Amino acid sequence: MINEQELDNLIICKKCHTLHEKISLPNKKKALCTKCNVVLYQEDKNIIDKTLALVLAAAISLIIAYQYTIVTINIQGLEKSLTVGSLFMVIMENEQYIVGVMFIFLIVIFPITIIFSMLTLLYLMKIKKAPYLTKRLLILLAHVRPWSMVDIFFISLLVAMVKLFDYAYIELGVSFIAFIFTLILDIIITKKVSFYELWDKHTEIYGTIDE
Ligand SMILES: [Zn+2]
Repeated sequence: MINEQELDNLIICKKCHTLHEKISLPNKKKALCTKCNVVLYQEDKNIIDKTLALVLAAAISLIIAYQYTIVTINIQGLEKSLTVGSLFMVIMENEQYIVGVMFIFLIVIFPITIIFSMLTLLYLMKIKKAPYLTKRLLILLAHVRPWSMVDIFFISLLVAMVKLFDYAYIELGVSFIAFIFTLILDIIITKKVSFYELWDKHTEIYGTIDE
């Protein structure tokens, strides 16, 4: 029988499923699969700092996205600049309640939850505080994360737009660009650090926590 600790030292190649033994790597080095050269894991001492910087940028761009005009619509010659908030009001005034609820969840609640819990998590991991809260945040993110922000954003915005297109001429605003920027950052963050790497880092920083 292999015990749990020995199991922790093994890593399976995502591509060819060969089992490898984990060794500690020097900083900035990557471990490759001996069979297919896929990256198995990497050692980056600054991964928390780097990811934190990216998440901070994403948070700022998300705040901008909520402040400025997302679309300018033209209804019967009358131009109206809408922020996320006023766009929501227009959707509700048009009695598109389901779209409205989706819009609030997908454009406001999900992105804020993802970005700001990442921000809190990484900051606490950086200063090596709050082992339980960080563990809770990791679990929360594991649940919310599969909702990719890209899908969320485009589906809900598309639905909102289609509903608005019925009667309006639409021009995209600063907020739209800020949303796109947040999405690009989100893709980079997801590529840069996997959930499992964060979990590993958590164990590395706080040790194993029993509850
Ligand atoms: Zn392989």
